[in-house]
Amino acid sequence: MITAIKGTQDILPADVGRWQRVECVARDVCERYGYTEIRTPVIEREELFAKGTGESTDIVQKEMYSFTDKGGERVTLRPEATPSMVRAFVQNALEQELPFAKLYSLGPMFRYERPQKGRYRQFHQLDVEVFGIADPALDAEVIEMASTFVEELGIKAVELVINSVGCASCRPHFNDALLTALGEQVGQLCADCQRRAATNPLRIFDCKVQADQPIIEELPHSEDYLCSPCLHHFGVVKQQLDAFGLLYRVSHRLVRGLDYYTRTTFEFLGSSLGAQNALLGGGRYDHLVKQLGGPDRPGIGFAAGLERLVLALPDGVGEAAAADAFVVAFGDASWPEARALARDLRKAGLQVLIDYEGRSAKSQMKRANRSGARRVLILGEDEIVSEKVTVKEMETGQQHKVARDEVAGLMLAVARTD
Ligand code: AMP
Repeated sequence: MITAIKGTQDILPADVGRWQRVECVARDVCERYGYTEIRTPVIEREELFAKGTGESTDIVQKEMYSFTDKGGERVTLRPEATPSMVRAFVQNALEQELPFAKLYSLGPMFRYERPQKGRYRQFHQLDVEVFGIADPALDAEVIEMASTFVEELGIKAVELVINSVGCASCRPHFNDALLTALGEQVGQLCADCQRRAATNPLRIFDCKVQADQPIIEELPHSEDYLCSPCLHHFGVVKQQLDAFGLLYRVSHRLVRGLDYYTRTTFEFLGSSLGAQNALLGGGRYDHLVKQLGGPDRPGIGFAAGLERLVLALPDGVGEAAAADAFVVAFGDASWPEARALARDLRKAGLQVLIDYEGRSAKSQMKRANRSGARRVLILGEDEIVSEKVTVKEMETGQQHKVARDEVAGLMLAVARTD
């Protein structure tokens, strides 16, 4: 047998209802907040991520599915959506159509990570991006939308963590302060952190190596090094979150694993997920659009991991609804009429099951029972002659006859009052 690739998963029929629930709420919430859907390719030029996600990130350094295609081009299966969204925004000159763009997308991402519960090599994200608005009120609105999304999925005990990582003018001072504070201790840090110290010291806060933590805990906090516009921006974000009544914790360690963030960063952590507890994360990136060859437009967004949201959903969500009816043909001659009845009911919008291979009425009844269908519609020679259908309500066992051309209307009326 050829098995699926490590870190990829089949989403089986028993789970797909939970996925559909997450996707449906995602679309609904995004559209209520003024976002429109965009779909970009899963394959892009490698340089898009090298430039966009950032050369110093773990994603680009270690995790990309990159290869040379048959035309000799270096291509990558996207590890995240933001660079593709920016590319699409720039390439299609969307800024000319709209003063600002609010976009969302759903789809698979690929990262060569060590798989474990909640961490996969192919996973799915809801990605949300806004281009063209620098106002901190938007940061708070984006965070509030993410909170509404998680809440409407019924996911409880979620913690919101926020931070500000500053901008191009104050970040260099903070990076200097980090290097000064580290001093000689750089040599005691893990190899990744030594690399980070040379390329992007802020990223040292991402380190999970236990031995490095005592040193990292003593490092200065970004909030103490923000320039006054960044401090003001962060203040307005917090004030608006307070006005929304959203609880949050400020963590100076929330720098997020990507290079492009400026000012606000945020994450929602789920309590039921174990080690991989980040349900969604994002932030502002005011220079990325320009950096990728576009106009000078600020951006902000977040990505939510659908696998983790599905894992965190309450039990019972997305269970398949019972079929409205199971049509049973009594006697061999009744099959064509039985199939025509099933066709008519399906066209009317009902969920209808029927058997195949000419099995006996008894074994059809058994299957109907096992299917969980709410009623059985029996069509035998008598019913065909009288143009009626025998309806058996499975819950009560009650049986009654209904005119053939009234069955759909009656069943729809019942379905509507449920
Ligand atoms: P990131 O794009 O790294 O900021 O991640 C955003 C969200 O995507 C995280 O909060 C997770 O919910 C999800 N995520 C990231 N990487 C993985 C992965 N390898 N497997 C499953 N979900 C992931």
